[in-house]
Amino acid sequence: MYIKEPDWRWNSGLKNRSATREVIIHHSDSAPETTAESIDAWHKANGWAGIGYHFVIQKDGLIVRGRPEQSVGAHSLDHNSASIGICLTGDFTISTPAPAQINSLETLVKYAVSKYGLGIKDVKRHRDVNATSCPGASFPWAEFKAGLEESGMQDWEKKLGAEALDALVVKGLVENPGQWKETLGEVTPQWLFWTMIKRLTEKKG
Ligand SMILES: [Zn+2]
Repeated sequence: MYIKEPDWRWNSGLKNRSATREVIIHHSDSAPETTAESIDAWHKANGWAGIGYHFVIQKDGLIVRGRPEQSVGAHSLDHNSASIGICLTGDFTISTPAPAQINSLETLVKYAVSKYGLGIKDVKRHRDVNATSCPGASFPWAEFKAGLEESGMQDWEKKLGAEALDALVVKGLVENPGQWKETLGEVTPQWLFWTMIKRLTEKKG
């Protein structure tokens, strides 16, 4: 995952979070071409230390770091002390996010969920925690959550497959694990499954 790391100047000190329980998604409520730098200027104009989000996902899908990941953000009233704030540029009351933005968001959310031991239920829209329409009714929320659940399942299957593969290597039943590692996310043909069972059975005998 590539993250652009601007050299932000903070107008006042940032505090560290003691917990991370939610990932909260926003829109910038502005033109899709909005940059993280403009958001930083707006937030400084509010009298804040600087950009309030931890990440901004620009129109082309570029992920830009805002506040340091461990800092308390400024994006969701009463939720800043235990959440990561992600902002997609655009106004999703009148348009939908670019596919590249959704792809980057999925990568970033999966990273955060796994790093902080969260579940998909902890991934929220700003409107789920505060009285706002953010990130807009045209943000494809149901689809996005369904995509997360689906890919989460694939990761779970891959993990199980990788563990099984390691065990088979240890037992000397697989000679070329590298070849299999690349195909762990693919559907296994029945013949391969039964060939493996047969080999295991023979080994045991
Ligand atoms: Zn918001």
